[in-house]
Amino acid sequence: LSANYPAEVDIPPPRDLKAHYDVVIIGGGGHGLAIAYYLAKYHGITNVAVLEKGYLAGGNTARNTAVIRSNYLTAEGVRFYSESVKLFQGLSNEFDFNIMYSERGQLTLAHTDAAVRAFRQRAEVNKHFGGRTEMLDRQQIKALVPTLNLDPGHLPVIAGLWHIDGATARHDAVAWGYAKTAAKRGVEIHQLTEVQDLVIVGGKISAVKTNRGTIGCGCAVQAVAGHSSLLAQKAGFRLPVVSYPLQAMVTQPVKPFLDPLVSSSALHCYVQQTSRGEVVFGGGSDPYPLYNTRSTLDLKESLIAHGIEMFPFLAKARLMRQWAGITDMTPDYSPIMGESPVQNYYLDAGWGTWGFKATPICGKTMAEMVASGGKTPALIAPFRLERFAHFQQVNEMGATAASH
Ligand code: FAD
Repeated sequence: LSANYPAEVDIPPPRDLKAHYDVVIIGGGGHGLAIAYYLAKYHGITNVAVLEKGYLAGGNTARNTAVIRSNYLTAEGVRFYSESVKLFQGLSNEFDFNIMYSERGQLTLAHTDAAVRAFRQRAEVNKHFGGRTEMLDRQQIKALVPTLNLDPGHLPVIAGLWHIDGATARHDAVAWGYAKTAAKRGVEIHQLTEVQDLVIVGGKISAVKTNRGTIGCGCAVQAVAGHSSLLAQKAGFRLPVVSYPLQAMVTQPVKPFLDPLVSSSALHCYVQQTSRGEVVFGGGSDPYPLYNTRSTLDLKESLIAHGIEMFPFLAKARLMRQWAGITDMTPDYSPIMGESPVQNYYLDAGWGTWGFKATPICGKTMAEMVASGGKTPALIAPFRLERFAHFQQVNEMGATAASH
C-alpha cells in the first residue's frame, strides 16, 4: 500500500486496531484525513482512527481535476470557499511538502445574455466577500487566452467571468500532506479497512463494524464522498443525494499554451493544462445514477467535440487516459456538513463534483465541530442536513455546472 505514496510521506506501517477510539473517521480521502489532522493540531485529539476501505486517497481525491476557486453565487458559498482558498495557499509550508499549488486564474465563458447577467451577480457577490472576480469583454479574453476560439459554432463568446483566485494543486499531495502530518501527531490511518455496519445504541453511535472487527468510538464522522447515502442507510436515515459518475480525461503532454483554467457551461466543458503539459478535459456528470467508475465512449466524444470547439488545434492531440469517480449530488449543489439524526455521528457529505477545493476548510470546521461535541461552526451552519426540511437550500447550481 505504501507504494501509492512517496517515501517522505512517512506513515507508520499497519498495526492492530484498538478496541476503542475517541473519534473514528470513515473514509481516508482528503476530507477524512484533513479532519484528523485539524483534530490533532488545534484540539489535541489524537486517539483518532481513519478507516479507509481501499488505499489512501484512492477515491475522488485521486480522480478530481483539482480546480480550486471561490467564485460561487451565494454569500454562504463564497464565504466558505474563500476560507478554503486561503488555507490552500499556506498548505505547502504547513506540511513541509509541496502540494504544487498553482494560482493561474479561472475564466468562465458567457455565451448568452442570461449568462452575462448571472456572471455580473457572481462578480459582485464575490468582491463583496473578498474574492477577486471581474467581468471581461471579448477583447480582454483574447488577450488573456490568445489560443481560445471565441466563435465556437452557434455559441459565440460574449463575455467572461475572470476569477483571479482560481488555482490548482496536486490532489494526491494534499491528501498525503494531511496523512503525513496527522500520523506524525499520533492519528492512526488504517487502509484496507472497510466499515460494513454501524452500532447505534439509544440513538447514539457506539461502534463501527469493520472487515477487521468491531471497534468502539466516542463519535464518528462519515467522509466517504460517493458512498454517503449507502453509509447513511446503515445509520438508519436517508440523505437527499443521488449518485452519478463523473468522468474526465487527459491528453499527452504538449507545449505550454494555456495558463488559466477555461470553462464553459454552455459547451459542458472545461479545459486546463497541467504543469507537465497534459491537457485535462472535464464536464458534467453522466446523465444517469450509477455506482460504477467505468469510462464511456459517449462522454469521450461529446467532451472532446466541445473541447475542440474551444481549442481547435487540440484535434491533433492524442488522449492518454479517461477515468471516472462517483459524485453525490444534492438538490442545491451544496454540501452537507454537520450533525445527523444519529447522536455523535457527523456528516461530511454531498460533495458532488465540487469537494476537492473544500478539503482544508471542511476539515478545519468539521474538526472544530467534533471537538466541541456537536456545536456547529457558523461558517458551515448553512450547510446542515435540516436545510432541506426547512426550505433553506443554498442554491449553487448555476455556479457549479462544468466548473466544479
Ligand atoms: P474521497 O477521496 O472519495 O474519499 C472517500 C473515501 O472513503 C474513499 O477513499 C473510499 O474508498 C472511502 N470509503 C467509502 N466507503 C467506505 C467504507 N464503508 N469504509 C471505509 N472507507 C470507505 N472537486 C473540486 O473541487 N474541483 C474539481 O476540479 C473536481 N473535479 C472532479 C472531477 C472528477 C472526475 C470527479 C470524480 C470529482 C471531482 N471533484 C472536484 C469532486 C471531488 O473529487 C470530491 O468532492 C472530493 O474529492 C471528495 O473528497 P473526499 O475526501 O470526501 O472523498
